[in-house]
Amino acid sequence: MITVMKFGGTSVGSAEAIERVANIIINTKGDKVVVASAMSGITNFLVGIVDNPPSDMEAVVEQFANKHLMAAEQMFDEKTMAEFRKDFDERLKGFRKAILSDPSDAYYKDLVTSQGERFSTLMLSHYLRKLGQDSVALTAETAGIAAVGLPLSGSADLLETASGMTMKVRPLLSQGIVPVITGFYGIKDGSPLTFGRGGSDYSAAVVANALDADMLEIWTDVDGFMTSDPRIIKDAIKIDEMTFGEAAELAYFGAKVLHPRTIEPVRIKHIPLKVRNSFKPEEPGTLIHNLRKKGKGLLKSVATKNDLAIITVSSAEIAYRPELVASIIAKIAENNIIIYSISTSLSTIAMLISNSDVAPVIRKLNELSSGDIERIDVKNNVSLVCCVGDDLLSKCGVTGDIFTAVKEAGVNVEMISEGASEVSLNFVVPMGMVMDVVAILHSKYIGE
Ligand code: ADP
Ligand code: ASP
Ligand code: MG
Repeated sequence: MITVMKFGGTSVGSAEAIERVANIIINTKGDKVVVASAMSGITNFLVGIVDNPPSDMEAVVEQFANKHLMAAEQMFDEKTMAEFRKDFDERLKGFRKAILSDPSDAYYKDLVTSQGERFSTLMLSHYLRKLGQDSVALTAETAGIAAVGLPLSGSADLLETASGMTMKVRPLLSQGIVPVITGFYGIKDGSPLTFGRGGSDYSAAVVANALDADMLEIWTDVDGFMTSDPRIIKDAIKIDEMTFGEAAELAYFGAKVLHPRTIEPVRIKHIPLKVRNSFKPEEPGTLIHNLRKKGKGLLKSVATKNDLAIITVSSAEIAYRPELVASIIAKIAENNIIIYSISTSLSTIAMLISNSDVAPVIRKLNELSSGDIERIDVKNNVSLVCCVGDDLLSKCGVTGDIFTAVKEAGVNVEMISEGASEVSLNFVVPMGMVMDVVAILHSKYIGE
């Protein structure tokens, strides 16, 4: 039995947290492979260095080193600290080299922001050893996680990763060694390519896929996948079970508890996933798998995605010109921009994109021949609400119930997508009203 266990930033955010997760690992039966994020705050710190480079890079190295060494000093006695320092100093040399490398390189931000994971994993692995559990700290490089794609938005090459890990990681398991692997990035042409913010969940799913694991456990700072974001809805409750499809839709449309791409690598191999709380290991968490367990309420969970914009392209009888629709989409795809929803009418096509993608999309659309597009309208600052529930499409009147509640909140719906997914109903509202919408839907329709 192989369990891949992923620990997020707060779960490895301090000496106490690392000690707690080391015990969770040791108390888990069977073969274990660990994937960890950077200590909380570290990736934001690294993003800050790239976005606003300080003049004194040596001070940055010192600050970065101290944050880790302070925690290490709490965890290790003199002897284990001396062993840890050897590996730590080696990795710190790599850190210094990374931040001093060429900032104009397209992958510079990937290289710098992926550094934190190299240090949290080292600390956790050494602590496991201190507790008598044989362990090695591996990086995506040494574990064989292969990536493809553009800067800051890589994807794993699943086949290449599987063959790399079969050679590099599997033999460790048969010797009883626990590998602790860096999350967040893979290797493309010899250098790091990150999987987007929060990407360690996806790394862990990729590792589970590569090793044909029996279980993926995502250990975080809440009791499991909840009926809504607990930061918005104070009485959000934990969901016991969900399907891969339900979790994937919610993660894609804003439920931050899982990186949007976590589900696919495990779903295709039927590997069940659990979301668990590293601060309360006695809690069973949420099980995400192929089976469906019906809830009592109309809705199972509601997620929101903010900072979106609706861009509406008008052209006479566009509905009769499929080649124009295709070229509009193709133009947007040239910049690799995600379209969250599309809706068309006789003379318009409306697309939901990120606020930050509006300018590049308009630039691209202006490259189309001038007679093709009559007008482009943009509505900024909207949010998408993603409602997931049992039988949303087949039960009569569900849509009516949902929009009656939205009306009660006094909110105007800007765009609707129903029927595209079997498990969810999505709609767009002004960003300033989204909390009210989620609050009313949660109070009226969510029940265990
Ligand atoms: P980690 O560092 O462990 O990856 P994240 O901060 O990325 O943790 O994700 C966990 C956080 O996701 C929770 O603390 C919670 O605030 C937020 N969250 C948003 N939506 C949900 C949801 N539906 N269920 C649980 N947590 C959610
Ligand atoms: N450390 C990375 C981030 O903060 C990846 C992760 O935590 O999953 O985005
Ligand atoms: Mg996360």
